[in-house]
Amino acid sequence: MSIETPGIQVRRSARAKYLRLVVRPGIIELVAPLAATERQVQSFLQKHRSWAEGKVREMDAKLKVFQGPGLLEPGATLPWRGREIPLAVEETSGRRANVRIDECFSVTLPSRVGPGRESVLKQVLYSWIRHWLRGEVARLSLAHAPRHGLNPRAIRIKRMVSRWGSCGPRGDININWLLALAPETVLEYVVVHELCHIRERNHSAAFWSLVAEHLPGYALERAWLKRNGPALMQRFAEFGA
Ligand SMILES: [Zn+2]
Repeated sequence: MSIETPGIQVRRSARAKYLRLVVRPGIIELVAPLAATERQVQSFLQKHRSWAEGKVREMDAKLKVFQGPGLLEPGATLPWRGREIPLAVEETSGRRANVRIDECFSVTLPSRVGPGRESVLKQVLYSWIRHWLRGEVARLSLAHAPRHGLNPRAIRIKRMVSRWGSCGPRGDININWLLALAPETVLEYVVVHELCHIRERNHSAAFWSLVAEHLPGYALERAWLKRNGPALMQRFAEFGA
């Protein structure tokens, strides 16, 4: 399709029912149903373009807050459960990388790693965090699921580019690995949100009241994700890629 709209990617989707704009840091995507005409796409764009561009600017401004030193530089930090903590990397003559966490992240990397150390470090952190989060999500699920019989068939911790979680038609739940870095209550909210989708497949009033039965104050966690989520995704986009 012809695109005379720099900075906006148009994607046709068989699943899309309406035209919509999806704004992520640095990217605006227009999702269009297969049946939408070129003219409908263009007029939709014209109408909403300045809103979308404003959103992108807003997100870029937020990202600057997070631009600290690189992971291997002195003063490096990582967020962990909502709090920025120091990251210390040491070398070992051994062959295995190791991660420990208490007041800071302590990572031991084999010294033979050499060039590309930063990408090895990212991979090591990503695997460790995913593994840790799997246990944590299982625990949260056990705490909330029995109340209304919302038992997931499987739980997966995944790298997800634009979502925090999802619930498949058979009750398989996917959770974004980055939620280990967000406050505990935010992780809990996303787990509950996806569990509630086992019964309520949409975002109807019935769905939200089910969420509220588990977590009456969930609006705060939703707001946290809205405010901080895009920057978190952007900052860790290269992890686990
Ligand atoms: Zn949902």
